[in-house]
Amino acid sequence: MSDFNVTIVGGGIVGCAIAAVCARLGLSAVLIEKEAGLGRGITSRNSEVSHGGMYYPTGSLKARFCVPGRRLLKEFCTSSGVGYQECGKLIVAVQHDEISQLESLFVLGQANAVEDLEIIDAAQVTKMEPGVQAMAALWSPRTGIVDAEGATKALAQSAAEAGVQVMTSSVVDSLERRKGAWQVGVIPDGQGRREGWTHASDFVVNAAGLTADDVAAMAGVDVKARGWRQVWVKGNYFRINPEHSGRINSLIYPVPPQDHSSLGVHLCLDLAGQLRLGPDVEYPEQDNGFSDKGLEPERQLAYHVDPNLAGSFFQSAQQYLPWLKADDLSPDMSGYRPKLAVRGFRDFEVVRENSSLEGLVNLIGIDSPGLTSAMALAEHVGKMLTDRDH
Ligand SMILES: Cc1cc2nc3c(=O)[nH]c(=O)nc-3n(C[C@H](O)[C@H](O)[C@H](O)COP(=O)(O)OP(=O)(O)OC[C@H]3O[C@@H](n4cnc5c(N)ncnc54)[C@H](O)[C@@H]3O)c2cc1C
Repeated sequence: MSDFNVTIVGGGIVGCAIAAVCARLGLSAVLIEKEAGLGRGITSRNSEVSHGGMYYPTGSLKARFCVPGRRLLKEFCTSSGVGYQECGKLIVAVQHDEISQLESLFVLGQANAVEDLEIIDAAQVTKMEPGVQAMAALWSPRTGIVDAEGATKALAQSAAEAGVQVMTSSVVDSLERRKGAWQVGVIPDGQGRREGWTHASDFVVNAAGLTADDVAAMAGVDVKARGWRQVWVKGNYFRINPEHSGRINSLIYPVPPQDHSSLGVHLCLDLAGQLRLGPDVEYPEQDNGFSDKGLEPERQLAYHVDPNLAGSFFQSAQQYLPWLKADDLSPDMSGYRPKLAVRGFRDFEVVRENSSLEGLVNLIGIDSPGLTSAMALAEHVGKMLTDRDH
């Protein structure tokens, strides 16, 4: 008999949302996080936007999880006292030929069942946001901002209160399928910790974010053959002088680049009203067709933001924020996306394995909108864990 029904690897928003679903389903579960606290990975280094869901191909997992995920996240945060603000978002066209892109996004949004989208003209944009210059915009009133780390901790707390064991400073170091269960090797990390241990688990859910491909490989998945090697693509942010706080009250995005590399450098707000620009897309040096050429992507975390990037941020944002001055910008933070393709659309991979890997659920390539989608993703994983006909 196993020690646990489920072991969750990773205590970001996705792992913690899965822990909460396991608790609700009455599954005995343990969540293992290598850092000393929860939500310190990708979850604490992003735009903290609860997305509407109008960017993703209809029927993709990103579209299917983002739209209900946003609703679930809003409900959960509202009922748990976690910071959440439905500030809305304008996607702005600054050139005439961008208006047709707004129309395409509107149509895609309708197909994805995104709520309350509206195309507005320049005068309506000025009325809504006098500090923004645009020829037209797509208005998404349901888009919001969220305290991502707060939501992660609250999800873990609700799981822990229902009996899930949540262990930080602990690294899942080995995964081996033996005698009908997964033998999970864990080594404690940090000062003054005890020796490691191995426990048996019916299921292992791999929600390890940037290193989810390494965890899958540790369990025996041929990640290269599946195209699951994740490239770490950096996104930098610049802070706008706080004297401008309160000048803009919604999120302002440009029309997204056609190559699906990002949503474009946008103006984000945080819950304290601080304005930031970002993220850009900084590819690892060795990015060019790494998978086609059988190369390993270069992977290193370097969170420092190069102040010399300020000029390109200023140029992008000045097109829709005419009051912005170059010296309003100062380097802020950065984050890394776990991307399955550096250019072009790639969907989330959420796979319950079979045969020799039975009982393993892998979540790979959980880049944006992973924060928004987390709770819907978790419901989906919960169904995978309880589906006896799989
Ligand atoms: C620049 C940027 C902007 C973004 N903006 C948005 C946005 O506005 N809206 C949105 O919806 N999404 C956004 N995203 C995406 C979103 O942040 C992520 O999809 C989401 O946070 C992923 O959460 P996660 O739990 O999968 O990963 P993580 O938060 O990284 O959690 C994984 C955890 O696993 C742990 N771990 C790894 N290996 C092991 C191991 N062997 N043992 C134990 N623990 C392990 C790590 O320490 C980590 O804490 C953005 C991402 C970036 C980088």
